[in-house]
Amino acid sequence: MPSSQNIAILGSTGSIGTNAIEVVSQLENAKIFALSANSRLSLLCEQAAKHHPEILIAASPEHAAPFCFPDLPNSQLWIGEDKLVEIAAHPDVDVVLAAIVGSAGLRSTWSALESGKTVALANKETLVMAGPLAMDLARERNARVLPVDSEHSAIFQAINGEKAENIKRVILTASGGPFRNSSISEIRNATVKTALNHPTWKMGPKITIDSATMMNKSLELIEARWLFDLPAEKIDVVIHPQSIVHSLVEFVDGSIMAQLSPPDMKLPIQYALTYPDRSAGPTEKLDFNEAFRLDFQPPDFEKFPALLLGKEVAEKGGTTGAVLNAANEGAVAAFLDEKIGFLDITKACREILNHHDFDPNPSLDDLIALDAWARKEIIQWIAA
Ligand code: NAD
Ligand code: MG
Repeated sequence: MPSSQNIAILGSTGSIGTNAIEVVSQLENAKIFALSANSRLSLLCEQAAKHHPEILIAASPEHAAPFCFPDLPNSQLWIGEDKLVEIAAHPDVDVVLAAIVGSAGLRSTWSALESGKTVALANKETLVMAGPLAMDLARERNARVLPVDSEHSAIFQAINGEKAENIKRVILTASGGPFRNSSISEIRNATVKTALNHPTWKMGPKITIDSATMMNKSLELIEARWLFDLPAEKIDVVIHPQSIVHSLVEFVDGSIMAQLSPPDMKLPIQYALTYPDRSAGPTEKLDFNEAFRLDFQPPDFEKFPALLLGKEVAEKGGTTGAVLNAANEGAVAAFLDEKIGFLDITKACREILNHHDFDPNPSLDDLIALDAWARKEIIQWIAA
């Protein structure tokens, strides 16, 4: 990082957000300028008391109204969703760490891109919903999009400036989630508790369920499609239970480059914040004094049909990403509320995707309208 940078961490109370605070506090040239949260406002205030951001945002007036904010003399308090858009465009903000979960992160990420900021992007849903529009906007406004998702950070590092025509394909690694070795009937009976029990990563509830269905890998395939401007046929998935190889890039001569590290999101967060430099950082290092294995196996599309949706959406583009994303968010919320079964998540997504009005060139407003449409469809699907 060349000179000191002001970072806005949007979604600071989440899994990525709390890791990001740890990373930024150890970086010499970075300052936490703003923090935001939706519902965990006491944690937000604790963070503010410790890190003294200039601006503190409580995105939801509903949660903010009954909450008693302590006196924080160093921070201004902003309330409301629009404030996320405003902070992302704030002239004193250099980097926006987009760590809000779901399509709720779209507007602030969009605002950051529109303002030409550097965006450290954890919120993959923005690219799933509106990948081509967001990447066009980034190019037009000279905004840099740096991946935080560990797979995309690995690919970004492995490509390392190689010409696009030299890339044969990228291979996203997937842990396989908690049901990697389960039978279909065991998966059918999955409970919220078993689905939230991820073997290698500790993450927020939505992405943890996405990892169990393997929808997360589908969303990442779509994310890679737009982030690296790669056609869908050049993006593959391999199961790698140890989550040490974070993804691979195969070049036309058969060479494969990979990035390895113990599973810890602090490293890809840090890389996005220090790029193009590196710094020592707090993350655990691989220890070659101990024997360890790296296993790889092809994915099982029958057990995890969600994987097929990502390829299809990455091929078709247009409105499909926004519909899949919203249907999935609605279905995951319904599963977490124990209103639908585990296999229903993918089934509902497939059905809603199949019967939407496809448009190959939607506007951002079209995509936002479709997001709302797919959420209503999920409610009807559950009721039927
Ligand atoms: P999380 O649920 O732990 O945290 C979500 C954050 O977003 C919280 O700070 C919450 O207050 C905020 N938020 C939620 N709803 C909001 C709304 N309506 N308006 C404003 N703010 C809202 O989620 P997470 O696991 O940290 O994931 C965040 C993003 O990073 C997701 O897009 C996820 O796919 C991506 N990601 C996460 C990981 C991980 O290890 N957790 C890895 C790769 C990518
Ligand atoms: Mg990932």
